[in-house]
Amino acid sequence: MRTLLIKNVRVLDPSCGRDMLGSILIRDGKIESVEESAEVEGAVLLDGCGLTAAPGLVDMHVHFRDPGQTYKEDLLTGAAAAAAGGVTSVLCMPNTAPAVDSEAGLAYIKEKSEKAKIHIYQAAAITRGLQGKELTDFAELKHAGAAAVSDDGRPVSDDGLMRAALEQAALKGLPVLSHCEDLALAGGVMHEGETSRALGVKGIPAAAEDNATARELSLIQPDGCPLHICHVSTAASFDMIRKAKAEGKRVTCETAPHYFVFTDQKLKGKNANFRMNPPLRTESDREAVIRAIADGTVDAIATDHAPHAPEEKANFVSAPNGVLGLETSLAAGITYLVKPGHITLLRLLELMSTSPARILGISGGTLKPGAPADIILFSMEEKWTVDPEKLHSKARNTPFAGMELTGRVKYTIVGGNVIFNEEAEHHGVHPAD
Ligand SMILES: [Zn+2]
Repeated sequence: MRTLLIKNVRVLDPSCGRDMLGSILIRDGKIESVEESAEVEGAVLLDGCGLTAAPGLVDMHVHFRDPGQTYKEDLLTGAAAAAAGGVTSVLCMPNTAPAVDSEAGLAYIKEKSEKAKIHIYQAAAITRGLQGKELTDFAELKHAGAAAVSDDGRPVSDDGLMRAALEQAALKGLPVLSHCEDLALAGGVMHEGETSRALGVKGIPAAAEDNATARELSLIQPDGCPLHICHVSTAASFDMIRKAKAEGKRVTCETAPHYFVFTDQKLKGKNANFRMNPPLRTESDREAVIRAIADGTVDAIATDHAPHAPEEKANFVSAPNGVLGLETSLAAGITYLVKPGHITLLRLLELMSTSPARILGISGGTLKPGAPADIILFSMEEKWTVDPEKLHSKARNTPFAGMELTGRVKYTIVGGNVIFNEEAEHHGVHPAD
């Protein structure tokens, strides 16, 4: 295979804390070396002047709607959106139609994903058909390639069943991802508060999330399965997770960009592209999200990329929950976390690559020699306006529509191959290979 040399680039590697100006040499799809300067005969050159290189992003919470709802997105358009956002590995949630709860379901994903240019991992269901009644066969799922188990948006409400799931997952070595929501309090249009009352729509109280977070934390055994809590959005849930971590409990958590950028005030315009679950909360919750990111309570930033068709999102009240995220996540992090000084760029990249790879036990998230050459090159300073029509996703439901963000992915490289080149796409220039 060919040799690729990325020169004159700022190299950031959160897996070893590296921040230097130099070159990355890639051979046979793997990183061979990272050095201050390198000259290699016959190598294809990529000039990284003015750009930052980092491990490809790992998004541990996406919905590609495949099989069953491929009019919203499919594994290949989802992968294209990921590539454009600098995401080289994703974990798909199992709430497809049918749900991914068997060897056959995983086999379909595996076969179709081979055509994708990024790495697609799949979470399998905890219960059959996401019905919350009977556990799936974790041994079978693990053997068929499941990277984790989760009932995501249909959380397991039966305490005994969830406890049994954690025991089984520990035995089979499968990470458990939990969407914390007390279903007895679920089913509203947006966060329950002043804005929901002013609009006269049913609210989802913060207690729906907090009750479930408390339940999940209480089920963690000292020597049992580590538990990962998905898309945390409330101040109280972060406080509980922070305390549990201080007590040594084996818990990790993620949040999503929309929770550190927006609040429920955005719903005043009745635009369903600001509706997701958990919902946008209050300004004090948004501040708590940023505090939890800054103090290390948050382990990962994932997008919860949830495509829907425009006609489904047209009605504010009846629209399904979920927003796009893959093509805006890095820029949202740079604009709202790094530029204001809440965290360093190295820490942002850790939250978006090294740490989620570690939680899932998958490769990626590092530029160490021998690692797969999954790399992004981006501009820290370039400003761009989010135009939904230019997204690579099949869907258009981004809450960032029309917003100016700072930070632009220029190249996405997977296994040493350039799979996204922003310049070529917008100016018709083709890379020198
Ligand atoms: Zn969820």
